[in-house]
Amino acid sequence: MDSYLNADQISFRDGLARWVDERLCPRAEELDRTGEFARDLFEELGSLGYFGIMYPEAYGGLGIADRYLLYTILCEELARGSMGFAATVCMHASTATNTIFKWGSEELRQKYLVPAIQGKKIGAFAITEPNAGSDAAAIRTRVTKVDGGYRLNGSKIFTSNAVIADFITVAATTEVGAGAKAINLFLVDKETEGFKVSRKLDKFTTHCSDTAELSFEDVFVPDDCLLSGGGVGMKAYESLTVDRIFTAALALGGGRAAYEAALRYAQERQQFGKPIGKFQAVQFKLVDMLSTLEQARLFTYHAAQMADRGLPITREAAMAKILAADGCNDICLKALNIFGGYGLMMEFPVQRYLRDSFFPMIGGGTSDIMRLVVARQIGL
Ligand SMILES: Cc1cc2nc3c(=O)[nH]c(=O)nc-3n(C[C@H](O)[C@H](O)[C@H](O)COP(=O)(O)OP(=O)(O)OC[C@H]3O[C@@H](n4cnc5c(N)ncnc54)[C@H](O)[C@@H]3O)c2cc1C
Repeated sequence: MDSYLNADQISFRDGLARWVDERLCPRAEELDRTGEFARDLFEELGSLGYFGIMYPEAYGGLGIADRYLLYTILCEELARGSMGFAATVCMHASTATNTIFKWGSEELRQKYLVPAIQGKKIGAFAITEPNAGSDAAAIRTRVTKVDGGYRLNGSKIFTSNAVIADFITVAATTEVGAGAKAINLFLVDKETEGFKVSRKLDKFTTHCSDTAELSFEDVFVPDDCLLSGGGVGMKAYESLTVDRIFTAALALGGGRAAYEAALRYAQERQQFGKPIGKFQAVQFKLVDMLSTLEQARLFTYHAAQMADRGLPITREAAMAKILAADGCNDICLKALNIFGGYGLMMEFPVQRYLRDSFFPMIGGGTSDIMRLVVARQIGL
């Protein structure tokens, strides 16, 4: 895989990999068990500059040309340590902040984007509602124009980072039932009256990435907190296309962790007088795992490089997510099988890898919705 990266990209990855091995891996099990957010590690990553990969130097970012590929590598490496922690970072440093960079006023960028890049403020992004998941244009959170701003009323579900967030980008409609054209994005500060995190959800995957329900009761949002340029409707969602590459990268990291653990185990675990890795059935599983992983990785990097070159990526981003997310789930299932009974024990991480592997298959759109995206792209 190194032949695909230049020397700077390899050095970026290796430096990050050392941080993951030294700082994140030793904490991953505890974070999964307690479901706690590792704020100290989050702030450390911010101070090291990693949240600025996507952004120009003027806002404290790195101002680099290959930002999508490096961000892909960031998501992958972090997820190798902890998919939950990586999901928090991925949501924060791309999805939740990109709309502010893209459509926010200079004042909003200074107030939210700059501290977010430093790791001092945390962002979330809320589209999904109890009755609007895959059908994201069916949201019912209403926005009404009032003097000096807008009023939001409604609720959201499955919002990642909601409990820890300082600000949330919220999708709302001017007319329920009018579909995409009536939808816009609004930046809501968590201190705003009428806004509430109504319930933290208990889930079996990515424990240390919080997921919650939100409620908005007559929440006032000033005029300049209207993001997405006003009236661009579904274009606001289209800006999320590149995030599918990053979700694919989360899956790559999770898949790698499971593959590497299973390989080590197959070399150590003895049955019938030899390591189980000497049995052809186990070897074939490991070879299939590695092939799936490398194929998904190559394609995900390819999609990220297309994004860096400014090419259309709707088809490639969706395909990368299908390959990596479904592939990671399959790899983790095979890893669990290689671990035998120990795979089902909470003291071995392989059950965590499998639980976490469901997140990339659903977060950011299910694999079947990705297939629909690709089907449209090929004229079906
Ligand atoms: C851990 C987690 C974190 C999340 N974080 C966020 C977040 O931060 N912000 C946010 O806005 N959302 C978030 N989501 C929501 C996520 O994007 C949705 O769960 C996802 O888009 C699917 O929506 P749904 O759960 O309502 O399922 P549904 O849309 O009800 O789908 C159920 C099933 O029906 C299938 N299906 C639906 N429509 C079709 C169709 N047209 N053709 C074929 N099959 C179809 C789906 O593939 C799926 O298998 C998160 C979800 C999870 C689980």
